[in-house]
Amino acid sequence: MKTIDVDVVVLGSGFAGSLTAILLRRIGRSVALIDKARHPRFAIGESSTPIANMVLRDLAVRYDRPRLLPLCKYGLWRNAYPDLTCGVKRGFSYFNHEAETPFQPSSAHHNELLVAASADDEHSDTQWLRSDIDAFLCGEAADAGAVVLDETNVLKLERSRKPLSWRLQCQRSGEALVVLGNFLIDATGEAGVVPHSLGIESDLGQVQTHSRAIFSHFTRIHDWNNLLRELSGQTEDHPFPCDHAAQHHLLDGAWLWMLRFQNSRFDQLCSAGLVLDERKYPLDDTITPEAEWQTWLNRYPSIARMFEKAELTDSPGQLIRTRRLQRRWQQLVGRDWALLPHTAGFVDPLHSSGIAHSLCGIERLIRAIDEAWDSESLAQRLLEYEQTLYAELDLIDELVAGCFDSLGQFDIFGAYSMLYFAAATTYERQRAEKIRIDLPAFLCANDDRFRDAVKAVRDRMPNASENVSAQATNQFFKDVAELITPFNHVGLCDRAVRNMYRYTVAPM
Ligand SMILES: Cc1cc2nc3c(=O)[nH]c(=O)nc-3n(C[C@H](O)[C@H](O)[C@H](O)COP(=O)(O)OP(=O)(O)OC[C@H]3O[C@@H](n4cnc5c(N)ncnc54)[C@H](O)[C@@H]3O)c2cc1C
Repeated sequence: MKTIDVDVVVLGSGFAGSLTAILLRRIGRSVALIDKARHPRFAIGESSTPIANMVLRDLAVRYDRPRLLPLCKYGLWRNAYPDLTCGVKRGFSYFNHEAETPFQPSSAHHNELLVAASADDEHSDTQWLRSDIDAFLCGEAADAGAVVLDETNVLKLERSRKPLSWRLQCQRSGEALVVLGNFLIDATGEAGVVPHSLGIESDLGQVQTHSRAIFSHFTRIHDWNNLLRELSGQTEDHPFPCDHAAQHHLLDGAWLWMLRFQNSRFDQLCSAGLVLDERKYPLDDTITPEAEWQTWLNRYPSIARMFEKAELTDSPGQLIRTRRLQRRWQQLVGRDWALLPHTAGFVDPLHSSGIAHSLCGIERLIRAIDEAWDSESLAQRLLEYEQTLYAELDLIDELVAGCFDSLGQFDIFGAYSMLYFAAATTYERQRAEKIRIDLPAFLCANDDRFRDAVKAVRDRMPNASENVSAQATNQFFKDVAELITPFNHVGLCDRAVRNMYRYTVAPM
């Protein structure tokens, strides 16, 4: 039987597992990278952010991986890798819809919110076509010397105590294969191979957000920008073309994402998905995903118009409907294993936190392994990694759950979402200026003052399921503005800008 013996086994060759394998090779570890699938394959989770780009840039520089650098900005990416599909992302845009009514824009932009991140396309963030980027990074891992084992089923995970090691019984192309490793990293995301194998219990009781999703890839979706103009929307006020963004359409107890790749031409590829508050819309298996999707389009005439000619692409070729999206485990590390962030837990696609969170986790884990491999202190470093991951997951949950609770009251949603932008821009600034600590926790999750501010905002949030007076909404806006003051470096909560924020990210 064939046996492969390495320092570290990485399970899952998505972008996170592949990048981890690349960096492990750079710090001198031998690596096996195992995936049950074969690239290129469909994957969801596509919208990057300034934080993601900063961390990726720093990893590329610190570990001398120049081929990763172009992936940090749209302009560089398109020049260096024209065959790797991506989309331009200038920021976040939100549009609040009333059921059974066409979208009604106003000159005050009362139902629109645009928050710019970058000043131009060249320096902007990107939407990642995951089938392309994951395949690219997996290829880079192989070039860096990782043993890449695709289409490999892990049949059994065993541990031997003397010496401390992992023994993975696998099957590849019908043949048995044994992979031995001293350390195991689980990057299988939702599959959670290691926590399932070790019998670790779910920690979902800690999670407030309750959502599920229906999504796919499409072509022939109309530009929202053009539809807005038809509806007399004043798109000339927008700080960036609103389709060049992570676009959010807020609905009753749900929201719809729209991400466009390459450009916004009518026949171009779009990722779109509905995220539903499961407390309000529990999954009903007797209704097909297609019927459920269509029901939502039928309720919102302007969304229906945007999708009137939409066609599913070959990959994945169908609507994918999930069960509850949230997950979280009661243990995230052991002496000789660790879960990457997307395996450790997941909250929701709102705020596009997944890619950036994964990169922050990879950065910390690689640093710990690099500095403490073969040392007693590795265990302590792993515990710190775990504590930070929990703090980050808690904070993301708090930021997202409050947004779900305020769906239907756009002013409250807009004010609450300022917490996310305050956290993101403070983190960016700390990182760019190397303020306080070397590796800040993602979104300032370890900053007690920020967490207190979030808690205070949540406590003061009006109950959006009731009729909230204009006075209460106004007061909430003022409360948020006051509470985020120490974290507001970019002019958030400014009534004068009429929901059109033109700030730019800290320079990279
Ligand atoms: C609906 C949805 C929308 C999202 N939108 C965004 C977004 O807009 N922006 C953002 O930043 N994040 C988003 N995310 C989060 C994002 O998907 C994750 O952060 C990202 O996918 C993490 O990448 P990964 O490589 O860790 O895991 P994954 O992409 O989940 O990759 C896991 C890999 O493990 C492999 N695998 C699975 N089981 C096994 C097994 N038994 N053995 C071996 N290999 C296995 C799979 O084949 C796959 O290659 C979203 C998530 C969801 C669910």
